Amino acid sequence: MIIVLKPEISKQEFDHIIEKIKSWGLTPMVSKGVERSIIGVIGEEDILRSQPLEVFPGVEKVIPVLAPYKLVSREFKPENTVIDIKGICIGGKKIINMAGPCSIESYEQLKDIAESIKKSGAQILRGGAFKPRTSPYSFQGLGEDGLKILKGVADESGMAVITEIMDPRDLALIEKYSDIIQIGARNMQNFSLLKEVSQSKKPVLLKRGISATIKEFLMAAEYILAGGNFQVMLCERGIRTFEDETRFTLDVNAISVIKQKSHLPVIVDPSHGTGRWNLVPQAAAAAVAAGCDGLIVEVHNNPEDALSDGEQSLMPDKYAEMIKTIRSIAKAIGREA
Ligand code: PEP
Ligand code: MN
Repeated sequence: MIIVLKPEISKQEFDHIIEKIKSWGLTPMVSKGVERSIIGVIGEEDILRSQPLEVFPGVEKVIPVLAPYKLVSREFKPENTVIDIKGICIGGKKIINMAGPCSIESYEQLKDIAESIKKSGAQILRGGAFKPRTSPYSFQGLGEDGLKILKGVADESGMAVITEIMDPRDLALIEKYSDIIQIGARNMQNFSLLKEVSQSKKPVLLKRGISATIKEFLMAAEYILAGGNFQVMLCERGIRTFEDETRFTLDVNAISVIKQKSHLPVIVDPSHGTGRWNLVPQAAAAAVAAGCDGLIVEVHNNPEDALSDGEQSLMPDKYAEMIKTIRSIAKAIGREA
């Protein structure tokens, strides 16, 4: 249920509504808009149906939210959410570029990559220290040593950091080194992990599960908002289909569907979405044209010897070319990159 408040509501009237909602055992979530504020009421909706909310002073109208996700929905918050990370605004006019290797391998590797992608225009450095690998015998990541390298290199290059959390017990560790907490596709419905990051003050990038519907994806994000963390970005990274020419099928439709249904920023990962480096720039271009708010791209200075995902990693020069293309597409649709 969403309670739309009158622009001229007094503080007393506002406090009274909040108190009443709490007295019914429900949780009020307030979204302050430029013109008017709205209260999203979370909990058993049946209780609300029997309450004459419309007659409360200061209430303009009461709208039932039909979608199973409430806080994530555009009904709850009509304007786009913009997340500010050290002055980098995600969800605004500018399309944000996150890039870096799949895994952090060494200081020298990451430094070299970071310098080149920064020059091309990337603002956020990615790199995995805890890797979700299909095989237990594959490289699992450098752990905290990797995080130290990541933070060190990002600071030297003047970039922000994104890295993946795999275990709820690692939240404090990830928060110490990273500006954005990434939840990988394989953990999209790890509800303990979602609840843990909902308690964090750091923004979260939630990747779509390999076989998740858009509804399931938005419900997973709802867990994070319901716990109090509204700084969530949704990442389309390809889904599993019958098509096996590519590693996954990048669901370009999902970008506009999510933009219509939700106020949260949408990021696209064309690297995992295709699985082949020579398809990445085209997929990235399509994503920008479709209205995404940012890209997260795997870049490696020596893909042949990469410890993970070399086949889908762009060389730095190809990444630079890709950014040039992205910029002209962004301009054509009234945005920047
Ligand atoms: C990654 O970003 O390296 C990664 C493992 O992505 P995903 O969770 O989308 O597979
Ligand atoms: Mn990867």
